[in-house]
Amino acid sequence: MEQRLLRVGWLSVLGAIVVGPALAHLVMPEPGGLWDRLSVLTGLLALSALVCAAVLPSRLRSLNRAFGIESVIDLHRFLGLVTAALVFAHLACVVAADPANVALLDLLAAPRRAQAATLATMALVALAVLAVLRSRAQLSYELWKWSHLALAAMVLGFSALHVWWLDQLVRETTFAAMLGLLAALLVLVFGHRWLWRPLFDPSTEFVVRDVRRESPTVSTLVLEPRCRDDRYADVWAFAPGQFAWLRLERSLAAEEHPFTIASSAHSDATEFTIRHAGDFTRALRRLPPGAAVWVDGPHGAFTNDVGGAAGFVMIAGGVGVTPMMSMLRTAAHRRDQRPYRLVVVAGAPGDLLFRAELAQLRRHLDLEVTEVLRRPTPGWSGHTGEIGVELLSVVALDGTHPDDVDYFVCGPPSLVSDAVSALDVLGVAPGRVHTEQFDFA
Ligand SMILES: Cc1cc2nc3c(=O)[nH]c(=O)nc-3n(C[C@H](O)[C@H](O)[C@H](O)COP(=O)(O)OP(=O)(O)OC[C@H]3O[C@@H](n4cnc5c(N)ncnc54)[C@H](O)[C@@H]3O)c2cc1C
Repeated sequence: MEQRLLRVGWLSVLGAIVVGPALAHLVMPEPGGLWDRLSVLTGLLALSALVCAAVLPSRLRSLNRAFGIESVIDLHRFLGLVTAALVFAHLACVVAADPANVALLDLLAAPRRAQAATLATMALVALAVLAVLRSRAQLSYELWKWSHLALAAMVLGFSALHVWWLDQLVRETTFAAMLGLLAALLVLVFGHRWLWRPLFDPSTEFVVRDVRRESPTVSTLVLEPRCRDDRYADVWAFAPGQFAWLRLERSLAAEEHPFTIASSAHSDATEFTIRHAGDFTRALRRLPPGAAVWVDGPHGAFTNDVGGAAGFVMIAGGVGVTPMMSMLRTAAHRRDQRPYRLVVVAGAPGDLLFRAELAQLRRHLDLEVTEVLRRPTPGWSGHTGEIGVELLSVVALDGTHPDDVDYFVCGPPSLVSDAVSALDVLGVAPGRVHTEQFDFA
């Protein structure tokens, strides 16, 4: 219910931002021909879509809780493309209104309002090219992130200058008020994202209690809040399955990476189970007790805490078992009697995580665990191979109507898409399938 309300609230806010200024323009009598009016309309829609695209990835917890990080990022990308399409439509309308306006594209000779528009458009095109390059040329995450942010700041800054120097809408009281509101919204959201949370918010500071080795390539980081003040208890209340961004310095330039909270929502410590993938994750493994870690979270909607399903089927690849562990540990704390079926996929037997703890949890929960190995060793008698229809039919929940079961899938993108396709073939309703991929950049 709470999530539904959040969704309705956010959809209303985002919808009002996207169509509000354009609607106001439509109802207002204004001199000028059709192409002039269309050029203002497409310009306003592009500006509104740009503001929404900028707000979406700004780590607003209630927004991420309402839709889940994957949908938020998908919508961000979609609105980026919509903005680009509207900018080109705007340009076409400006030229259609008066073909001599083509001269405005001359960056050296054009007036400053047109120069700002051209620079904003060039930055927008560069953003799209960078997005394609990131997947094709395997750009490092940090390089991609900072270039993406710099270009996005250019698009926003030059767009604002274009509107200001155009000196057309800002003269009109209604539009000046609307544009002022959009600017204030951006200042608030960016101030929260880039100043308050990373530099000042005391509730984000945690200290290392322990680092536990789970396997040669996986460790668990055990954290506790630096500030035990009751005022922050609610701030850090998380739903099992949510994730947070971790940083090792209180600085804007510090690297930060997302990790799922693996502990129970009722535990006094917060645990992250982390595969040693690269520099950052290896640095986490070496942290001594007492070291400071800054945690921005909780985020996401990958949780079984909403919806009241009658049972759960969970499919996890490798370290993708972390959100499932949080859900199972929380369920054990709550003495949840509903059936849980967990499918864990790993390379070799040594990569299967939490085997002893899962055996313990089976004593307290209606839990069955199916282990699947991609590279089975001689003597392995369990399941092998890819996640597919055959394997998933084995884990059906007896006695529970399939429409009442929620499915959670987490792991690398290939595993998530294999599992979603298999569930689709098995007739599982898409609304019952929840996914989290450990790479959303
Ligand atoms: C929502 C979410 C939850 C996650 N939960 C866990 C978890 O519980 N345990 C776990 O071991 N891993 C988890 N990951 C993956 C984890 O974020 C990456 O393995 C980690 O960032 C790698 O950093 P690195 O510098 O050590 O390795 P690198 O070699 O730098 O990166 C390895 C891979 O991680 C991706 N990556 C790097 N930095 C980031 C970043 N800041 N944001 C997103 N992706 C990045 C890159 O695309 C690259 O393919 C999660 C990822 C996401 C998106």
